[in-house]
Amino acid sequence: MPRPILATIDPQAITNNLARVRLAAPDAKVWGVVKANAYGHGIERVYESLRAADGFALLDLAEAQRVRALGWRGPILLLEGVFEARDLELCSRLNLWHAVHCNEQIDMLATHKTQQPHRVFLKMNSGMNRLGFAPQRYRAAWTRLDALPQVDEISLMTHFSDADGARGIAHQVKVFEDITHDLPGERSLANSAASLRFGQDAVVRGDWIRPGIAVYGSAPDFPDHDIAHWGLQPVMTLASRIIGVQQLQPGDTVGYGSSFKADVPLRIGIVACGYADGYPRHCSTGTPILVDGVRTRLVGRVSMDMLTVDITDMPHAHIGSEVTLWGRASNGALLAIDEVARAAGTVGYELMCAVAPRVPFAAM
Ligand code: PLP
Repeated sequence: MPRPILATIDPQAITNNLARVRLAAPDAKVWGVVKANAYGHGIERVYESLRAADGFALLDLAEAQRVRALGWRGPILLLEGVFEARDLELCSRLNLWHAVHCNEQIDMLATHKTQQPHRVFLKMNSGMNRLGFAPQRYRAAWTRLDALPQVDEISLMTHFSDADGARGIAHQVKVFEDITHDLPGERSLANSAASLRFGQDAVVRGDWIRPGIAVYGSAPDFPDHDIAHWGLQPVMTLASRIIGVQQLQPGDTVGYGSSFKADVPLRIGIVACGYADGYPRHCSTGTPILVDGVRTRLVGRVSMDMLTVDITDMPHAHIGSEVTLWGRASNGALLAIDEVARAAGTVGYELMCAVAPRVPFAAM
């Protein structure tokens, strides 16, 4: 018998989520963002449902090769462009579109010998201060690219720092617009949060939106809104089973560090899931968890291979009972990954990406 832990992927949920994002940003083309192995879900596992997107956006050539190997002939965008001049050859062969965010990447293009001209997304740093040309340098970069025979189409892009928060995107949109309003080419600005929150605005949605997290069923602006608010469904369910039961008396403690002490008699279920599976060690007593689809709480410290849950009010819970760490239980009950992430002081993105290689995956 394998250890009872499993991550399940629900392709229907991806289809639903993609449709919700499209509704929020009508008429925009969609880059299905599959970087970081499709946010931990596995590119190959999400591909069939994500083919309904208009293109795939990702980070590295190996991921692009995987998408092409699956048979995708449409657009693929390298979100950070190439890291070395020799990557441009493979870029051409795989017919990739690529971001250009610095002069060094333009230099690489300028010396690249190619039969097949490149399509690039020129990235502006409109306020995130990560990658991209400063607004005052952007047009010069555009002019340089435009003069290169290696480049046949220039699209324009930027990335928002606060699309999910109170600060919002107005300032970055203005910076981007002021500089680019009379430049030709397609535009791409919005991630999930911007698409869902501001996608009705034609400038924000541009020609291409780039949703990642919403497609995987996590609310980008949690806890202001949850996935139900956006009509999203969880794509990944991480489930395990109870493999042991302990009866605690007042004064008894649970787990490493004896951080949790019972003050009344408690029944505790031991679950085959720990931080070596990707469950966050930062979750502490009180983190929500489902046993047989009923909400209860984690107690004590998460250890490498196990965690412990309170099943005092669940007389039917026993060794073998289903435990849902996040996602959907067999009875349909939902535990959003965002709730667990919040309890760990992080975001759904990190939990999805951190599911450990030892956890087997299955499709629903
Ligand atoms: N576009 C770029 C350039 C990104 O780096 C990311 C992810 O961080 C996305 C789009 C997708 O963002 P999200 O998952 O928040 O929708």
